[in-house]
Amino acid sequence: MTTGQLPLSQQVRTLPIRVAPLPGEAMDSWLETLAARSHTTWGDLLIAVGLKGPGHGRSLLRYPVIDSTSSAIVSIATATGVPAQAIKAMALDAVVPEAGVPVVGPRALLLPGSRFCPACLNQNGGRWLLWWKLRYAFACPTHRCLLADLCPRCGGALREHSLSTKAIPVPGHCVSVGGRSRRCGADLSDAPALELPAHHPALAAQDAILRAVHAGTVSDGIYHAGPVPTAQYLRDLMAVGTRAVRYGSKNDLLSAASYVGDGDDTVEDLDGLARANRPSYYNHFPTSVVTTAVAACAAVPVLSATSAAAAGDRLRWLVASARHRGFAVSATNIGWGGRISTALTGAQLSALTPFLGQVDQIRYRCLTDHPRRPIQDEPVVSRSLPAMLWFHWMLPVCDTSVGFEQVRMALSVAVVLADGRLTVAQACSSLGRATASTSVSRVLGELSARPDWAATAVMLATLADYLTQHPSPIDYVRRRHLDTQDLLPQSEWLRMCRNLGMLPGNQVKIRLVRCWLYERLTGSPGRRCGHGRTTGEFRAKLADLPRTLNPELVSALDDAGRRFLDDNGLADEPLRWSPPKDAAPNWLSRKPLNEAIDIDKLHELVLPRDSYLGTIATHLGTSIELIREALNDAPAPRPTLTIAQRRATGAVIADARVQLTPELLADLYLRQRLTLRAIGETVGVSKQTVGHLAREYDIPLRPSAAPSHRHTIGTDE
Ligand SMILES: [Zn+2]
Ligand SMILES: [Zn+2]
Repeated sequence: MTTGQLPLSQQVRTLPIRVAPLPGEAMDSWLETLAARSHTTWGDLLIAVGLKGPGHGRSLLRYPVIDSTSSAIVSIATATGVPAQAIKAMALDAVVPEAGVPVVGPRALLLPGSRFCPACLNQNGGRWLLWWKLRYAFACPTHRCLLADLCPRCGGALREHSLSTKAIPVPGHCVSVGGRSRRCGADLSDAPALELPAHHPALAAQDAILRAVHAGTVSDGIYHAGPVPTAQYLRDLMAVGTRAVRYGSKNDLLSAASYVGDGDDTVEDLDGLARANRPSYYNHFPTSVVTTAVAACAAVPVLSATSAAAAGDRLRWLVASARHRGFAVSATNIGWGGRISTALTGAQLSALTPFLGQVDQIRYRCLTDHPRRPIQDEPVVSRSLPAMLWFHWMLPVCDTSVGFEQVRMALSVAVVLADGRLTVAQACSSLGRATASTSVSRVLGELSARPDWAATAVMLATLADYLTQHPSPIDYVRRRHLDTQDLLPQSEWLRMCRNLGMLPGNQVKIRLVRCWLYERLTGSPGRRCGHGRTTGEFRAKLADLPRTLNPELVSALDDAGRRFLDDNGLADEPLRWSPPKDAAPNWLSRKPLNEAIDIDKLHELVLPRDSYLGTIATHLGTSIELIREALNDAPAPRPTLTIAQRRATGAVIADARVQLTPELLADLYLRQRLTLRAIGETVGVSKQTVGHLAREYDIPLRPSAAPSHRHTIGTDE
């Protein structure tokens, strides 16, 4: 094996002179210094450290080592005696540590060459820092001056081209090639640099950027909920900054910069410098150091805002200026390319809020901490939502001047909208078309006029997220499609009334009860039940039904509902469900039921059989709809009836039935041969009632027994 076939790192020899890199120094600067101290040409030095040989040369671009995982690191370390770790820190990608980021090219986060601080070069003997290659490098925090980006003598950009391989480098001097192939050679430590006052916004902006560069990630400002790599931060910075200088007026830029830096210093001097000779300076010199500094002063405050709302406030002028320029800016067309972070997209959406309608404000979650575009691969929440939002969840906005049912239906549609992907019409459709787009828009208009609209919008988004992550145990889509033909059969209703000692009423009554039960089971309006009638009279009676409920009846109806669900194969689903309080923290506590209405007083007022819900509502100073829902939720206890009333409604026989089971009555009457009167006295009823029960149980009465009146089925209450 000849030496020519050895790996490069094994061909390299240790150099006689050692030069330690400065903290943060660029690799080309360090190697250049090494060559100068060794009185070696640039070409010979590259060969000595293993950077020029078979396989090297043209692939070097303009920087010695681009990739910190490069095998060249080892040979350089061997030749120079500097630890590989220190050399890796000088690789080009070390300044923006994110794999796969293009470090050169039109979207590059780095400059093709480098800017510089003349005072730094003067102090350190012409050594260049790696971060000066950042596109967003513009101010020296040590010397409080703007960086220089051009050679004061030849006007060329610095370090965009490789050094001459035949010359011994002179650190800190311009290597641009002028006319007749002569190198410029200007001493750059003499270059003029604009001094900045101590609290100038540009220094504060540069400080924020350098902190991000050194940390490798950014986790404060708009990124507090999701840290991003520094490269992403810089892309966001560029997205805002380039647009700010392109579209901002002088006043726009001054007020944008007022968020960074202290005191009265502004970017006025920089802006004045930029516009002095050429009004469209920023467009003509988009990558100049002055343009970059002004752009950063406008962009850093947006990214460092502590919430999406605050960032949106700071960004709004830019969105507004786009509208001013005739662009119809909407939530769907504000894209600044797919390369900005979701956090910055959130800030953009927040900035747009005043220009969007309520539907888009909900859909893009503009009023939440995390405005966002819809996430496509999540299931739609309609499955977990009743057509009318759970009663308790609408209480905080129950004093909206729109009907309860309309508000509840619109809120359910709005939760689907917060999911982000459906139109209003599609959302209505996904909830069984209980309501329509026009009605939803009207309700949302009313809700958005309330001072608590932001809280409502946050609840909608939070609830949508909760239901996506914790789907309801009830599949409401299936519930909405249940065939209600067999809901509460007549025989079951009659048995229920007999057991409860209630009058079953006529055919209208049972239809009303079925509609009520349908609403309770499906969350859709009761009038949509197949047993409903479309007449005004029927609707009025349905609205009045809650007045006639009592806890025992509701419990019995719930049992009937349970059997109906079981018969439909839904034994696994609960009868009813609503999300827990913490599904949207602080929402339900805004107005619990006992604050919305005095339940004890309501129960007292509803007891007289001839009471009217409208009168009670007026008395309690609340809406009739709230009273209805409150009674559905907490029905009034049964009134104490007179003996005559108890007999008429069957309450007496119902009580006796509970105490005298068929077995007990047969035992007392047939085996012990007690009289009907004697048996009646043991449970406090008449002998007629006992006789009635005996006939019901098919117990043959002895001839001496007195006849009993027949219980008749009464009419509707
Ligand atoms: Zn400096
Ligand atoms: Zn020059």
